[in-house]
Amino acid sequence: MSEEIEKTKCLIIGSGPAGYTAAIYTARADLKPVVYQGLQPGGQLTITTEVDNFPGYPNGIKGFSLMEDLKNQAERFGTDIRLGIVTNVDFSLRPFKLIIDETKTIFSETVIVATGASAKWLGLESEKKFSGFGVSACALCDGFFFKGQDVAIVGGGDTAAEDATYLAKLCKKVYMIVRRDKLRASKFLQNKIKNTPNIEIFWNHTTKEIIGENSVAGVIIQNTKTNIETKIDVSGFFVAIGHVPNTEIFRGQLEMDDNGYIITKPNSTKTNIEGIFAAGDVQDHVYRQAVTAAGSGCMAAIETERFLSSV
Ligand code: NAP
Repeated sequence: MSEEIEKTKCLIIGSGPAGYTAAIYTARADLKPVVYQGLQPGGQLTITTEVDNFPGYPNGIKGFSLMEDLKNQAERFGTDIRLGIVTNVDFSLRPFKLIIDETKTIFSETVIVATGASAKWLGLESEKKFSGFGVSACALCDGFFFKGQDVAIVGGGDTAAEDATYLAKLCKKVYMIVRRDKLRASKFLQNKIKNTPNIEIFWNHTTKEIIGENSVAGVIIQNTKTNIETKIDVSGFFVAIGHVPNTEIFRGQLEMDDNGYIITKPNSTKTNIEGIFAAGDVQDHVYRQAVTAAGSGCMAAIETERFLSSV
């Protein structure tokens, strides 16, 4: 049951680089944005260690600090940033109706969806234990820390294949752990893998355990046909088995592709519903970078402002 009702001009769902950048721009445009931070305040970057590729930080920055900076910048212009999860939406009404934490109702003239995507994990205890200490789901973010070392990557799709070739440029050796006898990746990427001498594939293998003391020292894999276990010595373990966009609550209301990513109009953040915009990883399964998410957050803010001044 709803207890309180509030009205806003612009409600932003999500607090990653897309959400906070949208907040900075909409706040500066005096739209008095309200941000609901969601399950993981600060988004995926808060679980990475160092971020070396966000422009403006010549010495790199911790993912958590970057997100604090973005939050502070959004607050500086008056963004109302709140802890809370949007648990339900009704986009058939105008203003749009959103339920927060199953109790509070907000009616908003516009909505920017920046709920991001979450990396899929294998679900091993040891994977959790070493997260940020050798286990990563982002080769582009964390590969650099394993320069000259041996690493393993699990997955056989385009992401794993691209990440493996990226890692192969930095690392001494890259072991790919593939659960079937073939890759799902495109032929082009398969050829790239084949032609990269320091990538070795373990076909028909699953990961049993990641081992180490304080950080990753190796991984135990198992052949699915013979059950034989093999230990590989690696200091980095990358998981690249796909992402899931955080779009469950929008199902049936916002247009999505087969994988649940929100479809936006070309060169725009407009969704199928006028006044609702989507920015960042929730609508981008190709680039998935903090800086591209921030860029699309900026686009969403500008489009929100234009929409509000046209109605
Ligand atoms: P994906 O295509 O869903 O591939 C996931 C891979 O991980 C598959 O090889 C899958 O094995 C494996 N996997 C899934 N769960 C696993 C588990 N529990 N244990 C071990 N392996 C597991 O995901 P993606 O590679 O992230 O790609 C997502 C989408 O983005 C795709 O549409 C892709 O084409 C696109 N993408 C495109 C590019 C590009 O064009 N350059 C780059 C990146 C991503 P199975 O094959 O056995 O299912």
